Amino acid sequence: MVTVTRARRRSPVLTPSGLACLSVLPTINLTAGCLHDCVYCYIRGYRNYPGESRVVLYEDTLERLRHELRPGQPKPRAVYFSPSSDLFQPASEVLELSHAVLEFLFSRGIGVAFLTKGEIPDETMELLIDHADLVQAQIGLITLDEDIARVFEPHAASLRTRLWQLRSLIAGGIAAAARLDPILPTLTDDPEALDRQFAALAQVGVKRAAAGVLFLRPGIIYWLTRRVPRDMLAPLLAAYREEEAVMRGAEYPIQNLPSGRRREIFARLEKAAEAHGIRLDVCACKNSDIARGSCNIAGAWPARTPRAAQPALMS
Ligand code: SF4
Repeated sequence: MVTVTRARRRSPVLTPSGLACLSVLPTINLTAGCLHDCVYCYIRGYRNYPGESRVVLYEDTLERLRHELRPGQPKPRAVYFSPSSDLFQPASEVLELSHAVLEFLFSRGIGVAFLTKGEIPDETMELLIDHADLVQAQIGLITLDEDIARVFEPHAASLRTRLWQLRSLIAGGIAAAARLDPILPTLTDDPEALDRQFAALAQVGVKRAAAGVLFLRPGIIYWLTRRVPRDMLAPLLAAYREEEAVMRGAEYPIQNLPSGRRREIFARLEKAAEAHGIRLDVCACKNSDIARGSCNIAGAWPARTPRAAQPALMS
């Protein structure tokens, strides 16, 4: 049972992101909240989090977007969906709006980069493939273990569907990568399981993947302790009790896994990825102490000619 409440926006549709790897593109959220209810999701700690299985749908998105991109206004080369939600949530109202917004952006020659853990409707998959050169996709897949997925991503698409979608996107000519984020220490970082996971990704044609390790916030710990069974939760949280893993930050404090443990995990991931011919990108935004470069979440967009170049976000 999901609840979709409709509301009008109080702020612009195209929004800059605070994350360095997303700073090159404007971002769009179609909803506040997300119906996938991933237990590790950082939006659970946000002030506007509407609760589990509830979203607020911004019903005036298309009308506002038309206005923000009216003739004479700077046109971004691409936009990113979605820093705090998902384009393909299990509710027809959300999926219809997603399709309409994508159609509008493509009609204006604007590209889209997205990360999803949802099921892409057939009609929207066709739309994406018809505009393959304007699409860069990441499909989130943190594990191949159904039990872990059911606990941590209760309403996301099945693992089989996500693998199938990767195959369809790649076969359709879309630059599509897998995203193993977050890796859950002690639960999804076993070398054999990672090897099986990268083998499955290689089988559907994946050549590129990105990864990040779970970080904790007070709001995330609150939900983990309520939704994750003890036999999974105890070893997971124990990994964060080491001396170095202290909470940092004021408004939304973050607790990261100690750098040594993260290094070990990324080394394991790299080894498994390489064995299957997949290039692995580590998110440097969340691992500035041990990684360099981008996790490619915003995709790679060709530079515009100087005449068409736009300032800041719009370039
Ligand atoms: S799909 Fe993304 S935005 Fe939605 S609940 Fe999961 S992690 Fe959060």
